[in-house]
Amino acid sequence: MKVYLDNNATTIVDPHVFSEMEPFFVQKYGNPNSLHAYASETHRPLKTAMEKIYAGLNASREDSVVVTSGATESNNWVLQRIYFDYILTGRKNHIIVSEVEHPSVLATAKFIESLGCKVTYLPINQDGLIEAHTVSAFITPKTALVSIMWANNETGAIFPIEEIAQLCQEKGVLFHTDAVQAIGKFPIDLKSVPVDYLTFSAHKFHGPKGVGGLFMRKGKELQPMLHGGSQMGGLRSGTLNVAGIVGMGKAMELASDALDFEMHDIKELRDSFEDELLTIKDTFVVTPRAKRTPNTILISFRGIEGEAMLWDLNKAGIGASTGSACASESLESNPVMEAIGAEADLAHTAIRFSLSRFTTKEEIDYAIVVVKKAVERLRGISSSYAYTNVCS
Ligand code: PMP
Repeated sequence: MKVYLDNNATTIVDPHVFSEMEPFFVQKYGNPNSLHAYASETHRPLKTAMEKIYAGLNASREDSVVVTSGATESNNWVLQRIYFDYILTGRKNHIIVSEVEHPSVLATAKFIESLGCKVTYLPINQDGLIEAHTVSAFITPKTALVSIMWANNETGAIFPIEEIAQLCQEKGVLFHTDAVQAIGKFPIDLKSVPVDYLTFSAHKFHGPKGVGGLFMRKGKELQPMLHGGSQMGGLRSGTLNVAGIVGMGKAMELASDALDFEMHDIKELRDSFEDELLTIKDTFVVTPRAKRTPNTILISFRGIEGEAMLWDLNKAGIGASTGSACASESLESNPVMEAIGAEADLAHTAIRFSLSRFTTKEEIDYAIVVVKKAVERLRGISSSYAYTNVCS
């Protein structure tokens, strides 16, 4: 059996999304900016897709949703542009990001720090959560931007974005949230939450890879990062990825329709999986369930190297993760485990299981058997586990 439990890394393209995209490769391939019939047959599908994206975010038509190549580009755009327009010009000198942001935020923050921007890396607590009042404690009159993700990719921890956005608005500080792991997991309502910038990637909600977006509140539009064309109202140059945009629109629509299923049925499946995993001795899950996205479990099995566990799971056809897929070649300990202050031996034992609306009960039943078997085998040959047991 093959079981995919790495949906926070990427998701299967929903077959309905795929069939909606298909005509835009071989049949309708015109560049929408050209002046002929080939171009015009893409205009309506593009418009419909954009409407679905605005609807999924409940964004006002006055705001800008700009299609990009994904959240990495969108996150870079926000932080680098804030550097150019606020820090380099001397108007402000500081930004705040959480210490558990995705590398596309953290590495960009480090980059602009190297250019002279002060950066506060906001800590998380031992549950992997952020409290809004800690953000407020770090804001100074020279703070240009606060950037905090809506949901964490490792733990699924949901951060209090409504409160943080509100307090940034009150203090006159721009606020950006990386909502990559939030879309399709719980409702996003940009008419009621005053974020200035929000980023997303289609492939995390059953859309295609290489396409995503940046929401910018009316009046807070950033200057473009890519120059050379008038696409996206002059905000993002480059020939439009028609099939990608059509796919992202459909994926957004389906994700909104499936929200109830995700928040109840998938959560129930995740909880039953987690209950079974927690019957294994010496296991530990980060972040209380009520504060997590419905699909994610970050769990430590004491005495077992995460990579060894992945090996056993992979041999049995199960795909899971030890950390952000972007960091998986570096065999480092899980960054969130480090941030919550887990002991060094635990930080290497974290495994992330992330479900999707395509995950079935049969798959979870199979995964339970495989994980239990793997834990038994690996603990049997683990000198560190034998040692802790003798000493405790
Ligand atoms: N932010 C978060 C929270 C993510 O999980 C990811 C993908 N792992 C990204 C940003 C980057 O998305 P993409 O690779 O699609 O640019």
